[in-house]
Amino acid sequence: MKNNQKTVCVAGEGLAGISAALTLHSLGLNVVVLDIGEKHLPKPGDALSAQALPILSKLKLLIISALHTATRINQIKIKWDQKEILHPWEGLLLERNLFEQQLTEIAINRGIQWHSKTHLKKFQWNGNHWDLEIKKSDETLFLTVDRLIEATGRKSVIVRALGRRHEHLYPLAAAWGCFRSSDNSTGIEIIRNKLDWWYISNHYGLCSVMIFSRKPPHTKENWLNAAQQIGAIHYNSVLLTPISVYPAQSSLTENIAGDGWIAVGDAAATFDPISSYGMTFALGSGYYAACALWEEINGTPNAIRNYSMLIYQKAMQAQITAANRYDLTQL
Ligand SMILES: Cc1cc2nc3c(=O)[nH]c(=O)nc-3n(C[C@H](O)[C@H](O)[C@H](O)COP(=O)(O)OP(=O)(O)OC[C@H]3O[C@@H](n4cnc5c(N)ncnc54)[C@H](O)[C@@H]3O)c2cc1C
Repeated sequence: MKNNQKTVCVAGEGLAGISAALTLHSLGLNVVVLDIGEKHLPKPGDALSAQALPILSKLKLLIISALHTATRINQIKIKWDQKEILHPWEGLLLERNLFEQQLTEIAINRGIQWHSKTHLKKFQWNGNHWDLEIKKSDETLFLTVDRLIEATGRKSVIVRALGRRHEHLYPLAAAWGCFRSSDNSTGIEIIRNKLDWWYISNHYGLCSVMIFSRKPPHTKENWLNAAQQIGAIHYNSVLLTPISVYPAQSSLTENIAGDGWIAVGDAAATFDPISSYGMTFALGSGYYAACALWEEINGTPNAIRNYSMLIYQKAMQAQITAANRYDLTQL
């Protein structure tokens, strides 16, 4: 079997899907990317850990301008009770949407087939290939591919349809709003309160405010008011985007690979957003899953199992860190 005769469908054009698609393409496989969205909608989270840079380098992506206009951060201010510490953290504060948009453009320019606004309706494994039914506008398309990459994020559309469960460690949700701030400094501040955590990043006047709560005692309205107040009171800011609420709990999928498919990014495991590890994990898991798939196609059966072990290891480490952060032992 020759690699270049194999086609892999990547469902989802988040960072995990993009990274997997670029890696597979560089290994000589045919790649088709499908995404339900028309374009990248604003996403919360603008802190990219420096640990992502080696993966971006492997994929020859360090050239993109979103990385060059980003601000380097080497510490995070953490406040709790009356204390304040400066926690060392290496990474970049970047324009998230621009970053994802530029990666997509590069992938398309490198020759990857891209179908935005496309809904993966049905998928059936037939022993050695997948038959896909895809809805694009009013059209229904049928596609046969050799492998499928599950990169649909927290929705985990494929994983769920295949009957795999997500194990959630603890409940956590986030309210997110973006403000124009009169404070032109740059940096990240985390404030721990009795019932919630605030994460505030300021990037030359563009201020992102998130409130994380593990046992939401608030109504949604209270939550939204609180986020608005943080923006308004602390930063004399003007709300730029409507405040929205997101699931933010850490989770791990029961099986992250099976016959002909492999899960990457949030579809495989989700991390506590305060760790700022999700984007790095998305890029890294996309890269390693694509390499494992390539090895499996070329006759190394353990490659997928090794990938699964790596993901479980990372997820377990992250869950222990999150458990300490949110004092889960005291629940
Ligand atoms: C509040 C919050 C703050 C965060 N802050 C940070 C941070 O500062 N730093 C950090 O590193 N991480 C952060 N994260 C985590 C990070 O955003 C995610 O881990 C990362 O975006 C996951 O990438 P992904 O590609 O797996 O999924 P996503 O980015 O969610 O991409 C999934 C894609 O799948 C598509 N899709 C969905 N359903 C279908 C379907 N049926 N068919 C086809 N396509 C479909 C979607 O349109 C989407 O494009 C944060 C998360 C939250 C919730």
